[in-house]
Amino acid sequence: MATLAAEGLTFTALPLASPTSDEARAAVLANPGFGTHFTDHMVVIEWSEGEGWHDAVIGPRQPIALDPAAAVLHYAQEIFEGLKAYKQADGTISLFRPEANAARFNASARRLAMPELPESLFIAAIEELVKADAGWIPSAEGASLYLRPFMIATEAFLGVRPAKQYKFIVIASPAGNYFKSGAPAVSIWVSDYTRAAPGGTGAAKCGGNYAASLVPQAEALARGHDQVVFLDAAEHKWIEELGGMNLYFVFDDGTLVTPPLSGTILPGITRDSLLALARDEGLTVREERYSLDQWRDDATSGKLIETFACGTAAVVTAVGRVVGRDGEFTVGSGGPGQLTGKLKARLVAIQRGEAPDPHGWVRKI
Ligand code: PMP
Repeated sequence: MATLAAEGLTFTALPLASPTSDEARAAVLANPGFGTHFTDHMVVIEWSEGEGWHDAVIGPRQPIALDPAAAVLHYAQEIFEGLKAYKQADGTISLFRPEANAARFNASARRLAMPELPESLFIAAIEELVKADAGWIPSAEGASLYLRPFMIATEAFLGVRPAKQYKFIVIASPAGNYFKSGAPAVSIWVSDYTRAAPGGTGAAKCGGNYAASLVPQAEALARGHDQVVFLDAAEHKWIEELGGMNLYFVFDDGTLVTPPLSGTILPGITRDSLLALARDEGLTVREERYSLDQWRDDATSGKLIETFACGTAAVVTAVGRVVGRDGEFTVGSGGPGQLTGKLKARLVAIQRGEAPDPHGWVRKI
């Protein structure tokens, strides 16, 4: 069976040899956790120089064969995305801003010297997988099907240059509520390490950035904190982002500040959505640099009343305590603030189809 996808490509559907039993799937969906259980299918699309994108397949999720000289294993030519499919109150399935993930994927591809994937093909691949694995979407509050599109360089060649063969793959993993409702504010450690430097790959969603963040994150955990916050590379002064979330600062006059897209932070889709929602609320939001010293002074004086982190996984999470080598401070009451809760509720309601969608962000499958 083959279905027309996009860009003249059709997906060849390969049968499942041993689909997961209904009982086993129900057991996973009752307690999905995050990132350890996977659905039955995956999508694979090949790219080779001269031919472009070809051989789109939806078939059983299984190990992929790679030559030991495949470029991704040596020079880390790899990019990925993360987005969720939600079961709506009315039983339909929706994606949240997949076009934005497609655009960011291509921005990452350009930075890593990889081929771009037409946005329509990126979305068609995701929709194909979600339809095939629709039975894997948990319906509990805050639960979703996490989708992981990624691209790797598969050419067997040890010279350092862009590879001439790639695979684009999409896998899916049922995900529970990342932070159960009423989650306390997180405590964060100010890292001495640098995540990204000007001219580097900080704005790209490439595996290497995350490999480099593991030691700083482990250090934060070892010191009893939940997350790590990175400062800028040049002056070690300006706040950039957490290991996997962007930051917002809320002031007592109702304004919000978030670090600008300077090229060293990931342009988060949650960040962008909250920018729009906050402006819809009539709030002033400024994208401007904010220093650690200012953060400490403003939190101490009471001018800064809330800080929150945002990203696809946890949506919005309050930051309660900030600890670094030069001391520590508490933000607001140390617990989740009012605006943090309000913006999170607004965004989640749109994502779940429980509120109007004025920006056209929800895409029904
Ligand atoms: N920063 C980093 C480094 C991330 O990995 C993520 C997660 N993709 C984010 C920010 C948040 O981005 P988004 O809102 O698109 O999930």
